[in-house]
Amino acid sequence: MITVARYFEPSEAHIVRALLESAGLSATVADDHHVTANYPLSTALGGVRVQVPHESVEEARELVAAYASGELQRELEAQLGEAPEACPECGAHGVTGQVPVSAKLLAVAVFVLGSATFPSRDTLRKCDSCGHTWSAAE
Ligand SMILES: [Zn+2]
Repeated sequence: MITVARYFEPSEAHIVRALLESAGLSATVADDHHVTANYPLSTALGGVRVQVPHESVEEARELVAAYASGELQRELEAQLGEAPEACPECGAHGVTGQVPVSAKLLAVAVFVLGSATFPSRDTLRKCDSCGHTWSAAE
């Protein structure tokens, strides 16, 4: 099996596995239990891996790239009749989600204090065209 993507969130790795399976590829998630056992160790090992058989690598990498770029989300929003998220500064539709630093720090604090992992949401948006950043409405 060849690794085509790595994530810090097991849930995101499983979403990508389901995406690959829905496209007819066989895919597995490796090392997802490291996260629950030891989050810092999981990060050191490179996170949770999504793997596919050698013959599916090219198709899987294209799907992972489309997922990472937000292309699949924009297609879904278009199908559902929702307006795609646009930059409030320049109006471009190429937008990247980011986890705010405050949410990352809170996740680290919760882990240190309670040894519990904490899901962080990517509520910051960054325009791929002009670099403008803003907070997405919940
Ligand atoms: Zn912009």
